[in-house]
Amino acid sequence: MAISSFHPPVRTLMGPGPSDVHPRILSALGRPTLGHLDPLFVGMMDETKELLKYAFQTRNELTLPISAPGSAGMEACFVNLVEPGDKVLVCVNGVFGNRMIENVTRCGATAVRVDFPWGSAVEPAAVEAALKEHGDVKVLAFVHAETSTGALSDAQALCGLAKKYKALSIVDAVTSMGGVPLLVDEWQADAVYSGSQKCLSCTPGLSPVTFSDAAVAAIKARQHPVQSWFLDMNLILGYWGEGGKRAYHHTAPVNALYGLHESLVMLQEEGLENAWQRHASMHNALAAGLDVLGIQFVVEEGQRLPQLNSVYIPDGVDDATTRQFLLAKYDLEIGAGLGDLAGKVWRIGLMGYSARMENITLLLKALAAAMTEQGYQCSGEQAVTAAEAALK
Ligand SMILES: *Cc1c(COP(=O)(O)O)cnc(C)c1O
Repeated sequence: MAISSFHPPVRTLMGPGPSDVHPRILSALGRPTLGHLDPLFVGMMDETKELLKYAFQTRNELTLPISAPGSAGMEACFVNLVEPGDKVLVCVNGVFGNRMIENVTRCGATAVRVDFPWGSAVEPAAVEAALKEHGDVKVLAFVHAETSTGALSDAQALCGLAKKYKALSIVDAVTSMGGVPLLVDEWQADAVYSGSQKCLSCTPGLSPVTFSDAAVAAIKARQHPVQSWFLDMNLILGYWGEGGKRAYHHTAPVNALYGLHESLVMLQEEGLENAWQRHASMHNALAAGLDVLGIQFVVEEGQRLPQLNSVYIPDGVDDATTRQFLLAKYDLEIGAGLGDLAGKVWRIGLMGYSARMENITLLLKALAAAMTEQGYQCSGEQAVTAAEAALK
């Protein structure tokens, strides 16, 4: 068999990420590759750091993209802040809280978990009670936007609790950045990581991170070297440090960074507030349409992520059949449920460039067609009318 070039179809991506990549970003990726120490490329790296400060709403000097996906950003925060013997309080309300526990344990530290029902936000009062009970907690870690369930937690309150109890905060903002308010300095968050393929609508594989002065001081005061060579911020900083004085660490993914730079330029052009507003209004339109289809949300109103909509699969409708139908007939991807929610829910993403009316119209029509095939009574046209009315 002769294997030849791969030509994927154009799909509409409305799952938990990656989201649709904007054509401007796709074309940036194909620009000429520069050497990673070329002064022009170094200038672009400096711009990327500035643009990331805007996206994170921070003045933190240590703000840069890790050359690896969101999970590596998570790991960078844990391996740099957590040392063997430390106690870390982890809030778990979905898949990514569990992944944080894995990180803590592998750092040789003790994870104290505070569990919340999947589909609910983290409850600050319960976190405060645990902080009081355990006293010497070094780090409080939580997921701002739980993509596995669609719940949004109060990051401001949780970062405030960390400060009150003299702990550092680690915040998973992979899905929140660009989709809902994320104010790193105002909330006094200490170590925050994100991802390129969610509301930034860039290709997967890069993880913006930012560290506060308190986090940097904790890294400098470590008793043990960071166990990961690749993710040691002391070394990464030498590579991403101020223009001119670059020490080779690894070869930056040059073209991937063109894509991230372009996505951040687009975010700056749109304006953060406008991007948050767009996600909120698209969510309202989608919710109005889904309501007409008789589809219910998993997360209660007020805790819902606009960019990730977890909804119950109606009785008599099959999960896999529906998702296969959407992919085969409409080139449309939505997400499946995870863990206890597998087979019971769909996760409909409205992230970044995917958060637009054209996608919502397609989804409502396609979903209605898929469910009608299975004997479920509904009207895609009426759902689209309701979604359009909600936008006005
Ligand atoms: C997607 C996601 C991650 C992991 O990012 P990858 O790029 O898949 O490694 C971590 N946390 C949350 C909340 C996410 O949505």
